[in-house]
Amino acid sequence: MVKNPTLPTELQVQVELPTIMPRSKRRPSVAYTEAQRAVENDAEIPYLSEQELIERIQHLRKERNAIILAHNYQIPIIQDLADFVGDSLQLSQQAAKTDAPLIVFCGVHFMAETAAILCPDKTVLIPDPEAGCSLAATVTAEEVRQWKAQHPDGVVVAYVNTNADVKAEADYCCTSSNAVKVVQAIPEDKEILFLPDMFLGLYVQRMTGRKMHLWMGECHVHAGFRAEDIVNALKQYPEADLLLHPECGCVSQCMYALAEGELPAERTFVYSTGGMVRHVKQSPAPIHLVATEVGMMHRLRKEAPHKQFIAVKADAICEYMKTITLPKLYRSLRDGVYEVRVPEEIAQRARRAIERMLEVV
Ligand code: SF4
Repeated sequence: MVKNPTLPTELQVQVELPTIMPRSKRRPSVAYTEAQRAVENDAEIPYLSEQELIERIQHLRKERNAIILAHNYQIPIIQDLADFVGDSLQLSQQAAKTDAPLIVFCGVHFMAETAAILCPDKTVLIPDPEAGCSLAATVTAEEVRQWKAQHPDGVVVAYVNTNADVKAEADYCCTSSNAVKVVQAIPEDKEILFLPDMFLGLYVQRMTGRKMHLWMGECHVHAGFRAEDIVNALKQYPEADLLLHPECGCVSQCMYALAEGELPAERTFVYSTGGMVRHVKQSPAPIHLVATEVGMMHRLRKEAPHKQFIAVKADAICEYMKTITLPKLYRSLRDGVYEVRVPEEIAQRARRAIERMLEVV
């Protein structure tokens, strides 16, 4: 048993953590990417105003018959320009059903890879291919193969926040909105290896009652949430609905606090970002406390403009998501960069895991 310093003491005894791999430190840097250098040194882009960039983007998207997909954590201007804004699952579904020959994916790299896997006959572009993910970086395909060798009968469930070669090693993919359903669809007698997010894994374990082997990965943005952040926010806004993302580092503690009656059960909700959007549209609560990446606030305010949304942690910012900017989106459409391709042998195996997930939803 490996002790995880970010888990609350009471949970250390409830989960068996994998013994082969401490949490990775391979967090990719986006301090100054090649795409950033390219837009700064471009002969045209630095001289265009925001409005001119928008007009050129509007013209090019029509000319190229392109669809722009944006994740809920993208900066507001990118969300506003997109044809569709959503969570990972919704974006995969949109990519799979669009007729447009060109998809410009405003999100992080593994999401664009998923679109490329699902749409082998379409061109998928990402405005900055260095838009990585600290969570996806915590596990490699080789590490999954080693883990499977230790549990040869195990069923591997991989969160979509993984690279394509990791998905290729999985039996099922899942997102935060369907992870519980995916695990419930696996026969009771099967051993489950769940990766890479331990907080989502702990949440699924609690919701399904299934004991799973959990990979010790985490997203640095969501792992930064602490139970004190939640308690302090609730003290300040006692009438608010509390919306938690299952990747948050505090979710396990909050589930425990809920069970103990320390959090208001009728006003505490664990949702994917797509679930949060559905919730605020129908909830009568005038104030919502939101515990996820702050890009979500723009989306929620647009969906329910008459309500008040408070970020539980205002500095919960994913630098990878913010790597996608207006100048880079314009250059992507203008120059056809950067195309995301997944080798067919890997894509085929990864597609099987993604399609199994889509069948369960
Ligand atoms: S918020 Fe976390 S999980 Fe999402 S893309 Fe950023 S680093 Fe990855």
